Amino acid sequence: MPQHPLSQIPDDVVWDWQERGACRTADPDVFFHPQNERGMARLRRDRAAKAVCAGCSVRIQCADYAIRSREPYGVWGGLTEEEREAVYQHIASAASFPRKRGEGALIAADVIAKAVSPSALGQAG
Ligand code: SF4
Repeated sequence: MPQHPLSQIPDDVVWDWQERGACRTADPDVFFHPQNERGMARLRRDRAAKAVCAGCSVRIQCADYAIRSREPYGVWGGLTEEEREAVYQHIASAASFPRKRGEGALIAADVIAKAVSPSALGQAG
């Protein structure tokens, strides 16, 4: 998959939060889908990744980074690729794309909160 033209590492990025990520001891294959993964297999793997993210102390920083950098692959901060793409649909122009630290978390606060809700984890009702 080609990198999106807006994908770029933000100028003010810091990486120290990654040292505290709950995924450091998790199987990386849970966070990144294999080629052609579809349907229930994808849903189950995404939910397994979200479950790790749900208990992560740096989830907001991670989601903020992934949104700001337009990270194309994987579950970051509990957000799937599709959930991040849905966030971008509400951004009017490249000029209003969130680039500064905290802006990604701000524009996607609702999506970030719902990303690890019981229903998102497959635990609802
Ligand atoms: S939020 Fe998820 S992907 Fe991000 S550091 Fe934490 S466990 Fe890893």
